[in-house]
Order: sequence, then C-alpha cells, then structure tokens
Amino acid sequence: MKMPRLTASIFRDLIIYMVFFGLLMGLAFPTLMTWLGFDADSVYTLKFFVASMLAGVVMGAINFFWVNVTVRPHLRLLADRMKGIETVLKHTIAQEGWSTACENRTCFIEENSADEIGASAQSFNALLRALVKSHDMETTLKELSNTLSSSLELSEMGEAALRMMTQRTNSSAGCLFIEDKGSLSLVANLGIQDTTKLSKDPFVLYCMDVGRLERINLPEDVEVNALLASFRPKEMLVMPILYKEKSQGVLVLASALGYSDDDYVLINLFGQGLGMAMSNAQTHDRLQDLAAMDPLTDIYNRRFGLNRLREEFQRAQRSQLPLAVVMIDLDHFKSINDTYGHLMGDRVLIEVSKVVRDALRDEDILIRYGGEEMLMVLPGADLQTGISIADRVRRLIEDVELLDEKGKRLPITASMGVSAVPRAFTENELQLIKAADDALYQAKAAGRNRVLSTR
Ligand code: GH3
Ligand code: MG
Ligand code: MG
Repeated sequence: MKMPRLTASIFRDLIIYMVFFGLLMGLAFPTLMTWLGFDADSVYTLKFFVASMLAGVVMGAINFFWVNVTVRPHLRLLADRMKGIETVLKHTIAQEGWSTACENRTCFIEENSADEIGASAQSFNALLRALVKSHDMETTLKELSNTLSSSLELSEMGEAALRMMTQRTNSSAGCLFIEDKGSLSLVANLGIQDTTKLSKDPFVLYCMDVGRLERINLPEDVEVNALLASFRPKEMLVMPILYKEKSQGVLVLASALGYSDDDYVLINLFGQGLGMAMSNAQTHDRLQDLAAMDPLTDIYNRRFGLNRLREEFQRAQRSQLPLAVVMIDLDHFKSINDTYGHLMGDRVLIEVSKVVRDALRDEDILIRYGGEEMLMVLPGADLQTGISIADRVRRLIEDVELLDEKGKRLPITASMGVSAVPRAFTENELQLIKAADDALYQAKAAGRNRVLSTR
C-alpha cells in the first residue's frame, strides 16, 4: 500500500497554489464582473486584470499566513513529539520501562480541540498508548522468561515465578502446586493461608482435570472460607499448568480488586511458559535424584554422600562445631542372604535404611557406603552425642520385625563405630571415616550388635 507523504514541501506547494489561485482570480474576476452587468470596456483592462490577480495573491497569502499560525504549530508539535519518542526509544530501547521515561508531558499531545487537529492528537495519543502497552508487555514477558530460566530447581524457580506474577498482575496472594504421584504438592506460596486444604479442593482438582483456566467472581455477600483469611478476594483464578496438553500442576491467584483483561492475557501467556519450565525443573530434580540416590534403599549413594560429607567436614572446621560420623554394618548379613535368599536380604536393607533415615534429623546425612554398610553423618554432634544416637539407632534396628515364610522373625542386628571431630589427628573426612571403621572393626571383634568409638 502506498503511504501518504507528509513533508515540508506541502508549504512550497501552498505557495504555488496561492500564485495559481491569484492568476485564476485575475482571469475569472473580469468575466464575472461583465456577467454581473459592469461595463466590459472598463473591466477588460490590464489595470483591472493586474488588480484582480493581486487581490487573489493577497487572499492566498492571507490564507497561507492563517494556516501557518494555526495548523503549522500543531503539526510542528506532532513532529516534535514523534522526534522525542524516537530519542527516548533510541536511548532506552535495550532497557526496561522506557514507557515510564515517556511521561505525559514529554511524549503525549494535549487533546484540547474538537476538530480534526484534536482528532489527530487523540489518534496520536492512542497510538502511543498502544505502543507503551505493547512495550510494557514485551518487557514483562522478557522478565518472565528470565525468571523461568533463572533456576532449574523447582522450588526456587516456582517461588521467583509466583512472586513476579503477583507483582505484575493485580494479585494479592497466590500459590503454585505440582502434580506428584496423583496429588498436588506445594511448590510456592505467597499469602494463601491453608494450602493443604486448597490442594484437595474439588474445584481446583476439577480445573486440573479439564485443563481449563477458570475465573471465579466472588460477590460481596458470599462467605469466603478461611482458605484466604488475610483479605477478602474479589476474584480468583485457577489455572492448570499445561505441558504437552497434560496438566503439570495448578496456579491459584487471588485478587482483592479483580483482574483486568490485560492481567488475564498475561496470566495465560505466563501459564504456557511455566508449563515448560516446570517440566524441565521436574526432569532436572529427577536426574539429580538419580545421580544422588541409591536405587535400592533410596538413601544417598556413596559418591554423592561422600561429597556431602566433605562439605560438612569443611563447614565444621570453619565454624569450629563438632561433627560425628557413624559407620554401620549389619551383622552376619551374608548368612541372612544364604538362609532366606537375596530378595529377603534386599528387603532387610530397605527396611533398615528406612528405620535409620526416620530416626535422624533432616540435616543429618545417611549414605549407603557399601553393600550392607551405611554411614551416618551427624553435623553438630560431638563424640558422646554420636555414640548415644548410634545406640538409639542400633536398638531400632534390633527391633525391626521381618518374618520368614514360617513366620519366624529374622535376626537383624548391626554393629557401629563412631568417630567425631574435633580430634587432633583428623585432617580430612577420609581420616574420620577410617577412625569410625576402626571402631566398627573392634565392635565386630567384641561380639557384634554394639556401638564402639575411637578414643
Ligand atoms: P559381619 O557381621 O562380619 O559384617 O558379617 P557379614 O556377613 O555381614 O559380612 P560380609 O561383609 O562378609 O557380608 C556382607 C554381605 O552383604 C555379602 C553380600 O552378599 C551382601 N550384600 C551386599 N550388598 C547386598 C545387596 O545389595 N543385597 C543383598 N541382599 N545382599 C548384599
Ligand atoms: Mg560389611
Ligand atoms: Mg556385615
């Protein structure tokens, strides 16, 4: 399509038209005068022609002058504002929020007349507003994609994404769930009171099942239960997070003021990005688990566990806090395998690992060190505390009840060796393990099912 040209040459054209108009007047006016009954001899004279032409040119000049003082300043203002926007764009295009740099006074035009000039100003402002909006949206989406790719850790990414989403939309609170083995587990929460109840809410589960975003307007007279007790929401959004047309989780947002159409568009776009990011983070978590966990017992494998021990050892040295390690070895495990079979041996390992894991605090580390050997790492525990924890665990293992086919209880016991820092001759974590191993050897030699420590 050919675009209309609006250039300064319009004023040159005006001058040409004005001279042409003067000539036309000069020619046409005497004819008009004779038609009106004036004497042809006095009208068709050179003097009258020149006077008519001059009158036409003067009229044209007055018109030109009038256009110049009325229309031209408006066009100049339009051109100046466009130039201003161009400058702002040039300086801030690579940054965020150029639209805030383009304030009302610098970029917009006053819409103070009801004529075509006012209408042009209105159109110009509308165009600029659309530009500002689209730039804001682009900035937000850029931020969003940065947030979604900022971390591969699910909870870290989820928290950052939720924080950003509540800031960018009219949300007062929100939470994000992920589908995990048939139920919803919480990834991030900002201000929702009872997320457990919400994760079991039939409507939330229904939205997930059908994979459709639902907007819920809550009329004033409707009682809202204590799920969102800190404020009274006007509107709620329940959005399933889809990836490859499958619900990965659900985002619940609540607004005290209600959502605009723009919020709605943004939340929809956000959901699409979040689906992929959540799926990536989940895959990453699974791979991390695979690399870190022992598949039979679901406790840390030796490689990962020893790295964690090194970290804890260094931290203990830096902070001058004690650190105890306990080497556990099941007693006569070979004969359990020989008597009851390898599968039963595996079951014993699974059960014992679970019992030990459950007996420890979250910050303690349990490692499958060898076939039927486990290593407990107890940050903050000195030798005496390590010994008493080990003895408590030893008794729990003794109490494990596994029955053979005839209903006879399997004899499950363990021997343990404990060592702890600070100790004068322990320079690294391997020496600490060696000390615990030596104590374990002595515990075996002393008759098994007991805890011994290095002096
Ligand atoms: P001790 O009281 O001296 O420790 O006797 P033990 O029989 O436990 O000692 P030993 O180290 O000789 O035997 C360990 C056995 O653990 C040998 C091996 O077959 C078994 N084992 C190692 N890994 C696994 C496993 O993953 N599953 C099963 N079922 N058995 C395993
Ligand atoms: Mg062994
Ligand atoms: Mg053993």
